[in-house]
Amino acid sequence: MAVHLPVLNGVRPAAVVPADPLVDLHARRIRYLRVSVTDRCNYRCTYCMPEDLGKEISFAPKSAVLTFEELERVVTVFAKLGVRKVRLTGGEPTVRKGIVDLVARIKAIAGIEQVVMTTNGHLMDELAAPLAAAGLSGVNISVDTLEPTRFAELTGRGDLAKVLAGIDAAVAAGLAVKTNAVALRGINDGELRALCEDAWRRGAVPRFIEHMPMSEGQLYATDAELSSAEIRRRLESELGPLVARDRAGQDPGPARYWTVAATGRELGIISAMTEHFCDDCNRLRLTATGSLHACLGHDDAVSLRDVLRGGGSDDELVRAIAGAVTGKRAGHVFERTGAGAPSKHMIGIGG
Ligand code: SAM
Ligand code: SF4
Repeated sequence: MAVHLPVLNGVRPAAVVPADPLVDLHARRIRYLRVSVTDRCNYRCTYCMPEDLGKEISFAPKSAVLTFEELERVVTVFAKLGVRKVRLTGGEPTVRKGIVDLVARIKAIAGIEQVVMTTNGHLMDELAAPLAAAGLSGVNISVDTLEPTRFAELTGRGDLAKVLAGIDAAVAAGLAVKTNAVALRGINDGELRALCEDAWRRGAVPRFIEHMPMSEGQLYATDAELSSAEIRRRLESELGPLVARDRAGQDPGPARYWTVAATGRELGIISAMTEHFCDDCNRLRLTATGSLHACLGHDDAVSLRDVLRGGGSDDELVRAIAGAVTGKRAGHVFERTGAGAPSKHMIGIGG
């Protein structure tokens, strides 16, 4: 049975499926799928899901969120097309009931080599060992500040001690751990070195993220943004020269990695705004409600949920996926306000 294939924000299913549906018009090959498994979160970070907007945050109804069976089916189709790595994100992925089971199910799909997660770390002290046993190989854990009161303020309801225990538990479970800190002037810019040293001491690789203007989060202190050049300058003034690691042979992604010349320690800077690496982008993003986005910086999407729930075949899923890939733009320009600003929440798309 042919289903009516959806058009969202102008993205159409491919009329003719290309020989390789995961190669886009700019010759970039998709190998990596980021999956937001929930838009809900146990934290309320000021730059992401601020609590004090004076209005309720609207979450997707549970019935709109893809089930594990639907996720398994979609990832199986992606794996057949050549996706090798899946990152589970959110919202906060660890608040999705059954997350350990989901990791095991995705890791068991033929072709999937790596399942990793981005998390706020709040539940990692309990979950790291079972997640590792289920096949998770790495976690990125967000920790913006080492000052407990500032941490609580920045995350709305976070508990720094619990997150640090989560990092230790993840390292102890054998997961490859990176930390993520959104670098914010006047908030944590005096802690860049301390954040690095704490991560290194725990066995993690520290990373800093440029603040991105996303939905409500964009209302948050835009004058607090630090460019990656400034982050690097500040780190070099305290740690000495940083040597850029060769990108060849690295997983293409927005993070650029640097080695501290004096110590050989590694750190990453994610420069989504000022020095983005759209040219070798190899990823797609699936929201919790099944919208497939080809780019974090644009709202264009195709609804795989409509195909799944409309009785679509795997070939129809491939057509919808090929439409999103064909529509993948050459690059993004984040606008801070106005019609061009991405309207989605970071919680919907998962960073
Ligand atoms: N809840 C998980 C977490 O916090 O790690 C996963 C989802 S979160 C949306 C993924 C990443 O996006 C986190 O590292 C978070 O710090 C980052 N993030 C959220 N809002 C951001 C913004 N406006 N600019 C830059 N990074 C942001
Ligand atoms: Fe939750 Fe992560 Fe957003 Fe913070 S950044 S509110 S932890 S989804």
